[in-house]
Amino acid sequence: MQIRVWLRNAVAQLPDSDSPKRDAEILLGKVLGKSRAWLIAFDDATLDDAQLAQLDALLARRAAGEPVAYLTGEREFWSLSLTVSPDTLIPRPDSEVLVEQALARLPAEPCEVLDLGTGTGAIALALASERTDCQVTGVDRIPAAVALAQHNASKLALSNTRFLQSHWFSALEGQQFALIVSNPPYIDADDHHLSQGDVRFEPASALVAGDHGLADIRIIAAEAGRYLQDSGWLLLEHGWQQGEHVRKILRENSFHAVETCQDYGGNDRVTVG
Ligand code: GLN
Repeated sequence: MQIRVWLRNAVAQLPDSDSPKRDAEILLGKVLGKSRAWLIAFDDATLDDAQLAQLDALLARRAAGEPVAYLTGEREFWSLSLTVSPDTLIPRPDSEVLVEQALARLPAEPCEVLDLGTGTGAIALALASERTDCQVTGVDRIPAAVALAQHNASKLALSNTRFLQSHWFSALEGQQFALIVSNPPYIDADDHHLSQGDVRFEPASALVAGDHGLADIRIIAAEAGRYLQDSGWLLLEHGWQQGEHVRKILRENSFHAVETCQDYGGNDRVTVG
């Protein structure tokens, strides 16, 4: 079968995807080890039986809703190619706002940075790649996430990072940081968003928090002060409807210069203090 014929059939089998053509091209590129440009230039090339079997198996899983990033095992974030697995959330473009805001607030001199609930290590690695003079610590409660973040750090040769297992601050007693970032779980368990799209396949531990999604944000805000240097910054990602709540939580915990920043969709996404 020719590439273009397989592609046409594949698109027809992905009616629930927002981007069926792109999904099918990514799967093709992965199985053939070729770029998108190559697939377009050589769309009359013939797929052999082994390639077809592999492609059809991946297509069936995509048609059943599995995220493309879990099927290929990779996702780009901040121009870094990251290995991903179902043990962690798939990095989102939304979180690039968190990286930008953190970079804008990091002191000019070398300093220590902490990423809580690091998952793939995406945010920690993006910061470490931009500020090679800083030391970035990423922690996660899930050992498989810590191993994945370590794997990504060595793949990207970002040696100014370390990854530890820690439930929020539990393994960090006595340490202090110039800046703490987190993309914690913040979705309410009853949110209908959880029954649609990629999130159905992502770990609930990375998505869902009690108290209308604010439980983990409250814990982090209450404890962060002990782990921040004077004039240090805390930056939290949250849901588009949580800005006001998160500002209030930060102020109740004696943070000042509290403000909320928007993502590229114009929604409240990151609150700092
Ligand atoms: N922004 C993600 C979503 O809405 C959730 C990320 C999170 O809970 N930390 O799918």
